[in-house]
Amino acid sequence: MATLPETPSDLLAPLRREIDEADRQLIQILARRFEAVRRVGALKHAEADQPLLDSDRECRLQAAWIRDAEALGLPAPFARRVLKEILNQSRRLQEALIDPGAARHRLVRCGYQGLVGSFSALAAEHLLTHRTTTPHDLVGYGTFQEVGKALINGEIDYGLLPVENSIGGSIADVNRLICDHALHIVDEEIWQVEQVLAVPPGVTLGELRAIRSHPAALAQCEGFLASLEEVRREPWSDTAAAAESLKEGPAWERRDTGAICSEEAARHSGLQVIARNVADRESNQTRFLLLAREPETPDPRLPCKTSLLFNVGHHEGSLVRALSVFSQARINLTRIESRPLPDTPWEYLFFVDVEGRTDEPPMAAALVNLRACCTHLRLLGSYPCRTNRQDAHLDREPYAGLEPEPEPAACPREPVLEVAAGPAPARTRAVFHIGPVVLGEGRFVLIAGPCAVESREQILAGAKMARAAGAAMLRGGAFKPRTSPHSFQGLGAEGLKYLREAGRQYELPVVTEVLTIEDIPAVVEHADVLQVGARNMHNFALLKELARIDRPVLLKRGMSATIKELLLAAEYLLSGGNLQVILCERGIRTFETSTRATLDLSAVPVLKRLTHLPVIVDPSHAAGDRELVIPLALAAAAAGADGLIVEAHPDPEEALCDKAQALSPEDLMGMTAALRPIVAAQGRTWQ
Ligand code: PEP
Ligand code: MN
Repeated sequence: MATLPETPSDLLAPLRREIDEADRQLIQILARRFEAVRRVGALKHAEADQPLLDSDRECRLQAAWIRDAEALGLPAPFARRVLKEILNQSRRLQEALIDPGAARHRLVRCGYQGLVGSFSALAAEHLLTHRTTTPHDLVGYGTFQEVGKALINGEIDYGLLPVENSIGGSIADVNRLICDHALHIVDEEIWQVEQVLAVPPGVTLGELRAIRSHPAALAQCEGFLASLEEVRREPWSDTAAAAESLKEGPAWERRDTGAICSEEAARHSGLQVIARNVADRESNQTRFLLLAREPETPDPRLPCKTSLLFNVGHHEGSLVRALSVFSQARINLTRIESRPLPDTPWEYLFFVDVEGRTDEPPMAAALVNLRACCTHLRLLGSYPCRTNRQDAHLDREPYAGLEPEPEPAACPREPVLEVAAGPAPARTRAVFHIGPVVLGEGRFVLIAGPCAVESREQILAGAKMARAAGAAMLRGGAFKPRTSPHSFQGLGAEGLKYLREAGRQYELPVVTEVLTIEDIPAVVEHADVLQVGARNMHNFALLKELARIDRPVLLKRGMSATIKELLLAAEYLLSGGNLQVILCERGIRTFETSTRATLDLSAVPVLKRLTHLPVIVDPSHAAGDRELVIPLALAAAAAGADGLIVEAHPDPEEALCDKAQALSPEDLMGMTAALRPIVAAQGRTWQ
């Protein structure tokens, strides 16, 4: 029997079988490669000093791969793209063996915003599978804030939140969450978002009257949506929830609504995908941050990134100066973004990402210099860099041509003092701008006023007196830490109001004490500088909270605190982010009883040798006797104090608090007259 000629469909079937067979082999070959990669990873892991990344080997591999591909007729750009994906995945497989959280967790719980199948859930699954060998559990929450709350409460170990999208830009709510809470960034994930159009099975494109999805996803598919006639856009809480909403109910019955979501969300909700790649741009990437309550130290073998949050003073060139710290250290900046400061309109916080890690010498040196340019600096974390710049390491000369900053050598510093003992004496001393007043090297600042705000009239008269005597700032306690509970405790919130009014009227920035964490918001609202009194120097909970505000803190030495303890208290403020710390020597308890306390003037040069911070002296609480205040004040200026805080009262005999040490207006005038020649002789400016 004669054979019939083969039709195209007869020819197609065996060819398709060949393609299917090639695909099966491709998957098997990839699985074989990744298994070998895993074994290499285990060997590298056993020897901790083995680098995970062998750049030379990767270069050779890439050259051979491209050569082979071209010899077989495959275009080089295509081959390069495939290899990049394979190498990326191989590296992530090896990183998983490092597992930074392994010792801490038996089960890692990670929260995300959305439902199963949302892009956040997919990114979380991918990141956790590749960063931990510990089993993990993913928990979906309704909002970003709920994820943050669960993390802070300890319900979850990590939270993965999207921080920016290559099309839509930055995600303000997540940036705000990071600003407002003491959370740490420990990893990142870059997710290639692939949007599909999903519908209940059997529904066709022509039948659709509505398409629902997260507003950001609808915006990313604007071109595709515009090509569909008479189709409404329905904003939904998230992409996976949009898919889930079509599973049943009226939308399922009407069979006229579709959802833009991930392929996985469509599958999970039993929907059928009728269009793929519906986003306007092919490259649609979202960057997620993995947040934790505690910082983690990334493995030294991984290329890293560091995120920082800082604020600079509101004066010319301050941001440029801060950023130039990185270019001088040849550190690449990968992101900068500003966020308005809620309480001070038109002032901004800056989010900055840089390549490198805080324990590398150039970065550590850059951070020391950055601190001198900022009013507030928070290190959000160093973590493995997963942005698609894997090739960048090939053209980066590690620190070539960079003179490492000399270690601050001369200081007998304790290793625990990392921030307070920052720049060596030869480097920049901190200079703080407090309204019109400049405090720091080369200036002398007098802060004067009564011990306590007693009434509106009293503090207005006190401000007038301070101004007339040449003081630059006004002091006055509204919350008073009294040794006896029966003594006048201050006017509280009312006192703060009077103090601010008096300061405004006489153009004097005001300093007042904050006693408790609860009082911080009210004091921040009314005062320019917050004082931590001697009795509270060891109140670490208060210091930790004050570390988070952007306002100078005048930190008094505790009555029986050593200089090192004072510096460690300052360290709480500095390492928590508040760089505007003014140290104050106010007398300590010794066996001597003829003065209220013993003024330790040696603390002035010692503190100046150990830190870059301004040091002021309070002769009033040390003396406890007005006759002794002036000689001690003159000695403090001569010893190099950057300023004085002195108690003076418009009518000392009527003072409700610390009457014996209150200077009269005339005394105050006399004191400044005697101080000015000392300050002038030192070549300093009277503020
Ligand atoms: C004060 O300055 O009002 C005060 C109470 O000081 P100290 O904390 O130094 O005692
Ligand atoms: Mn006092």
